[in-house]
Amino acid sequence: MTTSAVPEIAPRVPLRVVPRDGGADLSAAETAAADFLTALGIPLDSESLRDTPRRMAAAYAELFAPRAFDLTTFPNDEGYDELVLARSIPVQSVCEHHLLPFVGVAHVGYLPGERILGLSKLARVVELFARRPQVQERLTRQVADWLQTHLSPRGVGVVVQAEHLCMSLRGVRAAGATTLTSALHGSVRDDPATRAEFLALTTSTLRA
Ligand SMILES: [Zn+2]
Repeated sequence: MTTSAVPEIAPRVPLRVVPRDGGADLSAAETAAADFLTALGIPLDSESLRDTPRRMAAAYAELFAPRAFDLTTFPNDEGYDELVLARSIPVQSVCEHHLLPFVGVAHVGYLPGERILGLSKLARVVELFARRPQVQERLTRQVADWLQTHLSPRGVGVVVQAEHLCMSLRGVRAAGATTLTSALHGSVRDDPATRAEFLALTTSTLRA
């Protein structure tokens, strides 16, 4: 009996991230949208508005459906130990209190441990948690927690700046006002120099 001389390499299968299927019933949503608009006194009998309930249903279904992706990671063979930072990732979410959009940017950084991440995946993680009824504080924390759990980096930092249409267009009507949230883990939170570096690199890109 012979044994293989090839060193055993543990296969690292990328984690396939499939968002939970909310089971959208588009036909029921269309009926409800028609009832909703009619109840608000908006007649649907013009050619332009006739299909609006169907479009509304499809639009919200899309806003609540993040795309599946593979969390591709690579061994950190070079021992890279500086911050990896993706800045100005678009954030497109929906406030769960008013069901109006909030939009802005996220800056997501991590200090690599044993694995590094395909860079585009940081944007996919943001989308994973943005495309659902959300509040900005939870979105920020969920992105940081998820990366901490699945990548096991030495630290994670997430900063989100967004304008909430429920604040811009109604209520206080504070157009242009933005909300800033952050979530830090590991040495990005606990090491003063790393924390200062992360915040300097992220807040320098923020709109005043
Ligand atoms: Zn709101």
